[in-house]
Amino acid sequence: MSNTLGTSARPLRVAIIGAGPSGFYAAQALLKQKDYEVSIDLIDHLPTPYGLVRYGVAPDHQKIKSVTRLYDRIASDPRLRFLGNVTVGKHISHEELTQHYDQIVYAVGAQTDKRLNIPGEDLPGSHPATEFVAWYNGHPDFSDRQFELGIESVAVIGVGNVAMDVARIMALSPDELERSDMADHALVALRDSRIKDIYIIARRGPAQVKFANPELRELAELEVTDVIIDPAELELDPYSEAAIIDNREAQANLEVMRHYASIGDTHRPKNIHFLFLRSPVEIISGENGRVAEVKLERNELIPTESGYLASHGIGEYETLQVGMILRSIGYRGHPIPGVPFHERWGIISNTEGRVCEYETGEIVPGVYVVGWAKRGPTGIIGTNKPDSVATVQRMLADIPSLQPVPDANADPDTVTTLLRDRAVRYVTWEEWKLLDAAEVAAGKQRGRPRVKFVTVADMLAAIDAAKAT
Ligand code: NAP
Repeated sequence: MSNTLGTSARPLRVAIIGAGPSGFYAAQALLKQKDYEVSIDLIDHLPTPYGLVRYGVAPDHQKIKSVTRLYDRIASDPRLRFLGNVTVGKHISHEELTQHYDQIVYAVGAQTDKRLNIPGEDLPGSHPATEFVAWYNGHPDFSDRQFELGIESVAVIGVGNVAMDVARIMALSPDELERSDMADHALVALRDSRIKDIYIIARRGPAQVKFANPELRELAELEVTDVIIDPAELELDPYSEAAIIDNREAQANLEVMRHYASIGDTHRPKNIHFLFLRSPVEIISGENGRVAEVKLERNELIPTESGYLASHGIGEYETLQVGMILRSIGYRGHPIPGVPFHERWGIISNTEGRVCEYETGEIVPGVYVVGWAKRGPTGIIGTNKPDSVATVQRMLADIPSLQPVPDANADPDTVTTLLRDRAVRYVTWEEWKLLDAAEVAAGKQRGRPRVKFVTVADMLAAIDAAKAT
């Protein structure tokens, strides 16, 4: 390596692609270490930072969103520059990044949904929950989606935290909706919705749910919604009985579900129903061509060799009349041109955060990955911190054998010049703060946490307007 790399004369140039939690934690770890001078560009395809904290975390979970204060502190470090509204693979290629940065870290998350692969999955009215989440959170790529909410029943497939989020959001009262930072279009649509019954459908049993206990307990606080569980649904088979003996979270969840089952229907306007040991096998349309029913097969649990309790259909079927299906069965990553991708796992191909060729396992020097793009869509926001720290430790260990980019290319201005030459309207951190202030000010007028801009054009116009004043 050049003997000045990592000094103030020639700081280590790092591009972090994706300004969500894992990107911020990678930046924090790089800024905290004392061995090398660093100069970081945090690049995001949206004009706004925070990734899933802004566009994934449920809009009624304002406390969780307060983690952005930490991200703001990280971004205020003069060694970090935010370049929003820049899409890698469109405005600048991976190949070009390798010519301007000594190291590149992909923190791009997992942007698409897994599929059920059953007939009717793509009927109008059947949606990935990920799109519904992005829509109500005002993600510019999804804010023009249409969800038909003039229906009475919805099925949510899957029992993870995302399933709980979407079910709860549909169960909120107008007052509860108003207290969230949900996008205006979704606020209006959900306030006017006629949804009464929300069915959460699990392919396995109540001992195998993936959601966290606080998310389950929180349902008790809903102002207009009962949680309905038939006590018979909570009877465990011997395998599940044995499996939860050492699993306190599963026991706590069962206790809360039994409590809900004991309360039953108190005749509130909305209900969240839990149905266990059922898999959707077909989604059926009505006369209008939209989702009208979902056909479910009853399951039993059979242990695999590893002890995992897998669901198996027993050939007994029932149908549930629903006007919408939200498929909440997990996320998958999306390939970036030029970056090796593990198709089966839906992640960037890597060995402990070092990107490697999928076929040969050969390390791609100087290219790294963190977060969901590295390990798959698991864990909560905080899980990303140790994950990013681990990748950064490998980046630092690799510096002595690194082939640096030519000094002339390492000048940060070369990247912004390239973007300007391509007429890319990149957004700086200062510009984001103007946007943030405008959203919060608009929220204050209406007693809401913020009113979000939901299109890139509106965001850029608001930045220009704020600068003009
Ligand atoms: P998840 O936790 O992996 O849950 C996916 C659910 O889909 C599971 O219940 C799974 O059942 C089910 N499933 C998968 N394939 C299926 C199929 N073919 N048919 C029927 N059901 C199927 O995923 P997630 O809910 O998308 O959450 C992703 C991550 O984000 C998780 O780590 C979650 O904790 C996190 N998150 C956290 C919060 C929070 O902290 N508040 C909020 C949102 C998300 P099996 O168990 O049988 O596979």
